[in-house]
Amino acid sequence: MFGPPGAGKGTQASVIVEMTGKPQVSTGDMLRDALAKGTELGKEAQGYMESGLLVPDAIIIGLISERLQSPDASDGVLFDGFPRTIPQAEALARITDVEAVISIEVPDDDIIDRIVGRRMDPETGEIYHISFKPPPSEISHRLIQRKDDTEETVRQRLSSYHEQTRPLGEWYQELGLLIAVDGAGPIEEVSKSVANAISIL
Ligand code: AMP
Repeated sequence: MFGPPGAGKGTQASVIVEMTGKPQVSTGDMLRDALAKGTELGKEAQGYMESGLLVPDAIIIGLISERLQSPDASDGVLFDGFPRTIPQAEALARITDVEAVISIEVPDDDIIDRIVGRRMDPETGEIYHISFKPPPSEISHRLIQRKDDTEETVRQRLSSYHEQTRPLGEWYQELGLLIAVDGAGPIEEVSKSVANAISIL
């Protein structure tokens, strides 16, 4: 899954997981988990994440290499939020083949609203949005906002995306692997486009 922060990569990944049965590997989730557990990795990554910067490639590549050793990854995985730089993609190409890159395209102007209104239910992991996907009222008291989902950090995350990640989209396009999906509409419409893209692979 490829796209800017807040494009809906994580949300749409669940459609692909359901269709293919392959596990979702989200470097963002893995880093947040390490941070919550207070591991060395989490401590190393924290400053970058909280300022909206990319975590250094060596850390990410180590994390992915280890994850791909797990038995559940032997039949392929769905990467969400990885690779995010050309060196990460080069490292991945040395480990395994990439079958397709689904790029969720959302204009910058929509990103800030999407991210700043995003909330998560810590009990289920479900992601809501205060306007676009309002949570049921009985759980709204327990929803949390990601620490890096503030406007200032989102602007830095967007700029990291344009400088370091977007060129990777062009790289995958030249390799003929990129499938662009319009991510600007309602979640269900985007899910249909993602399902179509996967079904023709
Ligand atoms: P995400 O949940 O994918 O938006 O990731 C949250 C944060 O984790 C990012 O803003 C980065 O600081 C870090 N991160 C996640 N995945 C990567 C990656 N592949 N490369 C570098 N940093 C990453």
